[in-house]
Amino acid sequence: MTKLNPWIKRKLLGLFVKTKGYISSPIFGGQGVLFCFHRILPKDQHSALFGGSGMAVSPEYLEQLILALKQRNYEFVSMDEVLIRLKKPKSKFVCFSFDDGYADNLSYGLPLFEKYEIPFIVYPSLNLLNGDLIRWWDILEQQILSDSEVKYAFPTHTIELKTETLEEKATAWWKIRSLFLEWEGKFSRSEMLQLLAKDEQWNNLFTKSVAIPELRLVELRNHRLLTIGSHTVNHLPLKKLPEDQLRFELQESKRYLENLMKYEIKHLAYPYGSPNECGEREYHMARECGYLSGVTFNPGNITFNNLNPFSLPRFAGGESVKSEKLDHILNGVRHFADNY
Ligand SMILES: [Zn+2]
Repeated sequence: MTKLNPWIKRKLLGLFVKTKGYISSPIFGGQGVLFCFHRILPKDQHSALFGGSGMAVSPEYLEQLILALKQRNYEFVSMDEVLIRLKKPKSKFVCFSFDDGYADNLSYGLPLFEKYEIPFIVYPSLNLLNGDLIRWWDILEQQILSDSEVKYAFPTHTIELKTETLEEKATAWWKIRSLFLEWEGKFSRSEMLQLLAKDEQWNNLFTKSVAIPELRLVELRNHRLLTIGSHTVNHLPLKKLPEDQLRFELQESKRYLENLMKYEIKHLAYPYGSPNECGEREYHMARECGYLSGVTFNPGNITFNNLNPFSLPRFAGGESVKSEKLDHILNGVRHFADNY
């Protein structure tokens, strides 16, 4: 998208904020917004190192968000309905989506969604469901939190850090995390597990402990509010994969989930979902594999420049998205700020 002159952008943004969406809303507010969440956990179970900025929202926050959206007369719709609205706009809508397939989406989310009749979609990645995913970031955090010093032997060097205070723990986390990111693609599974001092069996239980059990999905097959979409097999950055592997990730997850749920899996969420991980090739492939929609992690509203069902934008839902920040999302101020 063409980027505006920064001076003009700043002036316009100021005007949009000052007029409280009166000007921005009709242009950039569009028809509505898709929200992307990961986990729903009570506050005391949120990441000790990252507080509310991490992957989880509390049930209390979620309920407040629902009430705030209702108060602003937004309609809650399913992904199927989003596709209808793309062609035939009606009232303003929001759609709630949950990536990866965490069990807490159902244990904490479902009662709330039933209370307020909120449709929602869960996009499970098959390797979370079957326990194959190595949640190295969570293992790393646990180790840093419980130990007063940590040591990881990377092929090029060994990193050893003191982790007594919370500050030391946070610093260590960022340092070691960047090394993990650097080595993630180059390591085999066994090298990765060895680095974390874990084995396959332990990892499988650890990952499954947070995943929705497949039997639970089967139980909820006909639930009036829940839709299941696909988040691929192995949760990889799709853009970096050769074409046959990309096709496998999209087709196999669809086939597996259709067999499990006994209904057509129409919707896809691209893992990570930024322009670094998905683009035109992935959007085309999603269509070719029989999906009807694909959601990204690009921030934006469902408005005139975002109507391709295979590259739908989503805003990250997080504890900080409330009052003014929520309004800036709904009335298109954020869309303008992030896209022009
Ligand atoms: Zn994901």
